[in-house]
Amino acid sequence: MAEFVPLRKGQTLKLADGRTVTVTDKLGEGGQGIVYRVRYDTGEERALKWFFIGYLKDPSKFYRHLESNINVGSPSEAFLWPEQLTEYVSGETFGYTMKIFPKGYESFSRYLLAKTRFKNVAAMVDAALNIVTAFKALHNKGYNYQDLNDGNFSIDPTSGKVLICDNDNVMGHGEYSGVLGKARYMAPEVVRGDKQPDKSTDRFSLAVILFMLLIGNHPLEGVKTNYPALTNKYEKRIYGTEPLFIFDEKDPSNAPHKLLHQNALRLWGFFPSFIQAAFRQSFSQESLLEGKERLLEQAWFNILMRLKSSLVRCPHCGEEMFLESDRATTCQSCKRTVKAVGHLLFDKRAGQDVTVPIFKDAALYEYHMNPLSEDFETRSAVILEKPGKFGLKNDSNYNWKIKTPSGKILAKQPGEVLVLGADAKIDFYNKNIAQVIVNN
Ligand SMILES: [Zn+2]
Repeated sequence: MAEFVPLRKGQTLKLADGRTVTVTDKLGEGGQGIVYRVRYDTGEERALKWFFIGYLKDPSKFYRHLESNINVGSPSEAFLWPEQLTEYVSGETFGYTMKIFPKGYESFSRYLLAKTRFKNVAAMVDAALNIVTAFKALHNKGYNYQDLNDGNFSIDPTSGKVLICDNDNVMGHGEYSGVLGKARYMAPEVVRGDKQPDKSTDRFSLAVILFMLLIGNHPLEGVKTNYPALTNKYEKRIYGTEPLFIFDEKDPSNAPHKLLHQNALRLWGFFPSFIQAAFRQSFSQESLLEGKERLLEQAWFNILMRLKSSLVRCPHCGEEMFLESDRATTCQSCKRTVKAVGHLLFDKRAGQDVTVPIFKDAALYEYHMNPLSEDFETRSAVILEKPGKFGLKNDSNYNWKIKTPSGKILAKQPGEVLVLGADAKIDFYNKNIAQVIVNN
């Protein structure tokens, strides 16, 4: 086999579309190859991933695979997708161009090792929403991910924006490789060797990523799985044949270890009941052993929007907390109880409840105004508090129509504040109605 020859500074390479790029710099090196900075004649810069010869087991098949992904195109802005292949060099290897990795993003693994932290809880929730949105776009484009792990994701700690890199293996081959560590993100049926990765196994991986993002530990790693050395045999047991959720309601035998899984012990109670329920469903024995009950991206999106709208500050200690809509919540910082006077109740979306607690500064987004919108960033309304009453300020572009219990019809234009009264029905836009429910 030919020897791998790194590219030289100043070397030019011909791309499949006929243009050429010049190598200007080395950006990094990984297990699959070297990434260089290259420049088009126009001055535009790109990154170029140059594969190690030994990495490519079937170079021409892999070339065609990448070619097909380039032709189909990137699912969304969140993907650092291959743009152009180079021509083969000496019939042995090749590379492809992609956008240069922007500054400010940090690898998800660094968050897991607590080397990076989100600026605030809101940025973390936005990161979760961005991951779900990216997966949805990927599946809508007909791909599945297959090769998911914490090294693929990079997140901006301030904005929660997500970039997914190493998309080379999206679609195509994906049998259980037996590589240690990788199984942590695979659906149990893939680890067991029962199934090839597909949409359903990707959905399992998505739930693992979300759990690790929010809770900070792995959902299946508890006291039972604390082996001195993680061999293939144990790995198959933990993630494949005998998986057990660390917060399984029926079987507590794999609960978090009090020293090894402190994040899980500390953070689980920080999240409201509906997030805990979503994870219990995702990691139930039915999901782990039969592949059932897994949440679709759209369900996760609605659940996470509910989470986003429940983010408030504790009135006692000022810390950020997630407030349940309809019941008392214990602030994890000061351990005091906080309860909303009521909540806004929308129609369910994708089988999930849509609610917002009536509490100072709880926010509604474009998503809440218009059920067809997936905009979770544009704030469209906010709850205001004055002694003895709560208001909802219209920051949207819509004219709201309100029907009071006595049948009176009101209107609130953008910029106006609606004083929230029991049982009023607010039509935000096109019969998308929320009802004001008073909590007992
Ligand atoms: Zn507090």
